[in-house]
Amino acid sequence: MSNRVTFAICFVLVAAWTVTPVQLRRSLVRDERRAEQGNTDTLDILIKGGRVIDGSGADEVQADIGIRGDRIVLVGNAGSRSASRTINASGLVVAPGFIDPHTHTAEDLSDPARSSNINYLMQGVTTVVTGNDGSSPWPIADTLSKWERQGIGTNAALFVGHGTVRTMVLGSGDVTPTSEQLGRMRALVDRGMQEGALGMSTGLYYAPGSFAKTEEVIELARAAAERGGIYDTHMRDEDSYSIGLLDSIQETIRIGRESRIPVHISHIKALGTGVWGKSTAAIELIKRARAEGVNVTASQYPYTASGTSIVAALVPRWAEDGGRSRMLERIGDANIVPRLVGDMEANLKRRGGPDSLLITGSRDNTLVGKTLAQIAGEWKKSAVQAALEIIKRQGDASLASFNMTESDIENFMRQDFVMTGSDGSAGHPRKYGTFPRKLREYVYVKKLITPPFAIRSSSSLTAATLRIPERGLLRRGYYADVIVLDEKTVTDRATYEHPRELAVGMRYVIVNGKVAVDDGHYTGALAGRALRKGRDASLSK
Ligand SMILES: [Zn+2]
Repeated sequence: MSNRVTFAICFVLVAAWTVTPVQLRRSLVRDERRAEQGNTDTLDILIKGGRVIDGSGADEVQADIGIRGDRIVLVGNAGSRSASRTINASGLVVAPGFIDPHTHTAEDLSDPARSSNINYLMQGVTTVVTGNDGSSPWPIADTLSKWERQGIGTNAALFVGHGTVRTMVLGSGDVTPTSEQLGRMRALVDRGMQEGALGMSTGLYYAPGSFAKTEEVIELARAAAERGGIYDTHMRDEDSYSIGLLDSIQETIRIGRESRIPVHISHIKALGTGVWGKSTAAIELIKRARAEGVNVTASQYPYTASGTSIVAALVPRWAEDGGRSRMLERIGDANIVPRLVGDMEANLKRRGGPDSLLITGSRDNTLVGKTLAQIAGEWKKSAVQAALEIIKRQGDASLASFNMTESDIENFMRQDFVMTGSDGSAGHPRKYGTFPRKLREYVYVKKLITPPFAIRSSSSLTAATLRIPERGLLRRGYYADVIVLDEKTVTDRATYEHPRELAVGMRYVIVNGKVAVDDGHYTGALAGRALRKGRDASLSK
């Protein structure tokens, strides 16, 4: 090949790879002019005559949406323009694809049998974030490129987990790092950020995150802040286990202030009878911090039960010091058991008693669908003894823990800094129903919030919070993540008894310009992308 040809090819490739925002804007202006001149350029997809709710919070407008390649190229009147595919959206709501800031999808996305993420697509979710609660895959880069190689149904991004980093350096013990160890942890967070993480997540409620002092978290959050990341937390306490709900919010705010990082409270809630009604005080704290310039946001799922496990809900953290094998030793130690049982009884009370804990996942399948009270009755043991027996037999079991009130849920949902996040976990219906449930129950039935407010809380608010550019709004030039839903039929179908029922009512779900749900049916498309912060054009700072 001659040098000149090689040069020409290289030039074309480089030019194709470096479309700047200015160029993009110019091409959009050209596009608009052509449209005005009755241009007949074919679009790939034209969504015609829908009720557009663009994700900004603005009111619904009647408009067409044009898509070419992976981008939205027209929002407005398509006139006589033709398209390879036209979707008649008359009477239907057209909105940006939903973004879920807190999922547990890392394993699903890595497994080719589950990587379609169909349970999220059917909810209208086109981007998921995982690696929350302080626990992430490692290395970040390997997981993102694996997803890219294998194909995924939704876009996906990762947090680097504080607990993951801590375990690599300190193991699972209740220890405080030396400054050298802290430096190594900092370097790992920095590496995770360089490999494309959106920020750092913590699970200060869980071991080993619970062993970290606030100062450790502040130091590590600074590493994320320096790369433009955010701080995402499952707080130390959503109840009265340790420092309490309100002090946990204060701790989060302090981390934001001292690390100079936006802080995001995952699945905000008032968990347990002792803190019911405290949503108002929690909201006041957050509003005050926001007024003082600390960027605090939160996510929420619309269910009165949280998803957890017997160990996480009932076992005190001191019993987990040193990891699982040490915990099992303690459970078998007659000198320790009385203190352990006492603490577990107190935790059970916080959770509303054994009738409030429903087994949703267990190696022994016969336990699924029963409450801890029922199992204790069958085994003729106390509830705590039954819980310990389950731990001894099989390690742990998943729970739906009914511990929230509707009024706290509604109070949080009305706030303009609270977004939708499923925290989807196996056995809890939220993994299949969160987004449509919010629309059905709280928008269309209870009319607690308006459709534009709800859609903003599931799209642009989340994109802005996570600093994901060019998604979350129906705008020319943005990625074509678009949903078309029928407000008459959209609803969740998953229940605690049948948690894996797909949601209905999402008529079309388009991911990066590809139709993934077509007239309510999954097409098999794996059109999602791995989103990397600061590494490629799709996710810059
Ligand atoms: Zn969590």
